[in-house]
Amino acid sequence: MRILLSPDATAREAGEVLRLAREAADRPDEVSVETRDGRMLISMTANGESVDPAMFERLAGVETVEDARPIYRLAGIDQLEAEHAVRGRTLVEVPYAGVTIGSGQFVVMAGPCAVENDQDILATARRVRRAGARILRGGAFKPRTSPYSFQGTGIEGLEMLARAREEVGIAVVTEAMEPAAVEMVGEIADIIQIGSRNMHNYPLLRAAGRQNKPVLLKRGMSATLEEWLGAAEYILNEGNPNVVLCERGIRTFSRHSRHTLDIGVIPVLRERTTLPVIIDPSHATGAAGRVPSMAMAALAAGADGLLIEVHPEPDRALSDGFQALSFEIFDALMSDLGRIAAAVGREI
Ligand code: PEP
Ligand code: MN
Repeated sequence: MRILLSPDATAREAGEVLRLAREAADRPDEVSVETRDGRMLISMTANGESVDPAMFERLAGVETVEDARPIYRLAGIDQLEAEHAVRGRTLVEVPYAGVTIGSGQFVVMAGPCAVENDQDILATARRVRRAGARILRGGAFKPRTSPYSFQGTGIEGLEMLARAREEVGIAVVTEAMEPAAVEMVGEIADIIQIGSRNMHNYPLLRAAGRQNKPVLLKRGMSATLEEWLGAAEYILNEGNPNVVLCERGIRTFSRHSRHTLDIGVIPVLRERTTLPVIIDPSHATGAAGRVPSMAMAALAAGADGLLIEVHPEPDRALSDGFQALSFEIFDALMSDLGRIAAAVGREI
């Protein structure tokens, strides 16, 4: 933390700020003082970092207080030495899928918005697996904007996912909406999804951090990068290092698409965090016809994978049918992705 005093701070005010800084620190050498352009700058290190900056902001003579503590200490790129990170990348293993997200392989997760019935989820699991998807997506518990919309098939949906998983031998990602449901969802899911609307649900993030299944953390639709990484930090801080970030489009002034896909966040995340990032072009664009181009852009931009909505008959889907790909379009997209992957030396 750095405390900059105003140019007209009196000697008495400066002395009081310094006294409090020394009192808050564990040892006197954690506080250093220098003069910048005729003003006093007090810097605190070590234990001083756990002192609340607000305590100094109120003091007479203080101009600014800069909190040097990163909010994401575990998600941050400084964690190069972390046990789970190799060459600055967190590797998230999904054993049932036989893949490691973040390792360079491009991991495609595909399936319906919601698990509707056994027949559809089974057919979808087979088709997406055959096309090269490693993980089946599908919500059993659905966070819908309206309480009158279809809310998902709940526990029965989870059971349908479990059957499709077994029968097809495909790993599953599905959402948990509340802390009490995390354990139950974790019993069948290979990856637990935390949805955009729940990115700020701290009890849920903590619960996801207290179990050991990987967590797919979607970006809140109005979340800044700091807020998103701060949310990831809640999971990591509970002891679960297996977090995969998912960009799913944010709210901007644009009205031409459901959300604005922030593809530019990929290189920024590479600079700031070790965590893998996947792109959800379905919720970002909200239109099936726009999904393939954004999926290919994600691969070219260096994402670790995709989360895509696919439905046997998009027109009769109970949720988000307008953005779901048919099997045929998904097959075509997978072969286009295969060509791009080969060109950039990546495996799908
Ligand atoms: C989903 O992927 O099922 C979903 C509800 O998306 P989001 O949380 O991004 O809106
Ligand atoms: Mn959806």
